[in-house]
Amino acid sequence: MTETGTELFNDKIKSGYENCTGCGVCMLTCPVWRQTRDIMLTTCGRTRALQNGDGPQDLRDSLTACVLCGSCGPVCPAGVDTVGLTTELRMELAEKTGPAPACHAPNVVHGKASGKVFFPGSAMRKDDRLLRRALRLLEPDGAGLYEDAEISDMAGKMEAGIRPDPEWFKDFVSSMAGAAEIIAADGFLHRHLRQWLPGVRVTGLGETLLRRPDIKKALKATDLYMIEARGYHADYGRLVNFYDRMRLETGCRLNTSLQRTAIPTGAANRQNRPGPVRVDAEEQARWILDKRKTDRVVAEAVEDMKIFKKMPGIEVIHVAELVN
Ligand code: SF4
Ligand code: SF4
Repeated sequence: MTETGTELFNDKIKSGYENCTGCGVCMLTCPVWRQTRDIMLTTCGRTRALQNGDGPQDLRDSLTACVLCGSCGPVCPAGVDTVGLTTELRMELAEKTGPAPACHAPNVVHGKASGKVFFPGSAMRKDDRLLRRALRLLEPDGAGLYEDAEISDMAGKMEAGIRPDPEWFKDFVSSMAGAAEIIAADGFLHRHLRQWLPGVRVTGLGETLLRRPDIKKALKATDLYMIEARGYHADYGRLVNFYDRMRLETGCRLNTSLQRTAIPTGAANRQNRPGPVRVDAEEQARWILDKRKTDRVVAEAVEDMKIFKKMPGIEVIHVAELVN
């Protein structure tokens, strides 16, 4: 039996995989299931295999196939922490198959955060024009840019199964002592930031921008608004109502499923271990567009925006481009 109780950095997160009944509801929302129809590559397959005594090494293909979109979590009637489980299993797998690299801090000095800070994430940092636009919209509300190259780098490594170095982790938490709110474009970080910094409010970039009346007003009823899936599922109970209100107010369409989870493209997936199965983000995008009559896609995530730009005959913009 695997030893995983899913304790992430001593945060005492219990995945609850023992409670899985094998109902398969999590598969309905899973892009890996949609593209492969292989139950063993889904959360359902992993939890049942763990219950049968398998360990992370037996689940390598399944663990590498998951894009950590999180849409399986909110729908699970047994309350399994699906993302926590997969993240922890990846870390156990990396440690078992060695070498077990800890994610050391790169040579970047921590800034001391205070007040409201914006983590743009690696994808937006590569797009200077978009980053400036987002900042112009956030700064009047008091948000300042935080040099997040280091935390972005760490997030990518965590996603690939590398545990953060404890010393780095301590430094990071202390550098955030003065922060009241973090606006993080990278939804992967949301759950972790909430665990590490319990007194700090964590929000997504899309949600923050949508609180501006001019942004909301610029959305058209014919738009397809692409919610960033990872951050949404990390705070599903609150955000499902937020986006529902936004949909009613603007009339726009959302990338939500019948279970009201956000259908991901999988483009934000940074898992870099070789594996036989990869979610095809372009195929996901085509499927999302099918039956949703739209002439414009408005994306919260830069990664999603880039994938939809490959689709012919459709205008694609980032939410920060809705107003000048
Ligand atoms: S996190 Fe996403 S890709 Fe992974 S098992 Fe759940 S639904 Fe499937
Ligand atoms: S939805 Fe929950 S209980 Fe049902 S198969 Fe998936 S993990 Fe198990």
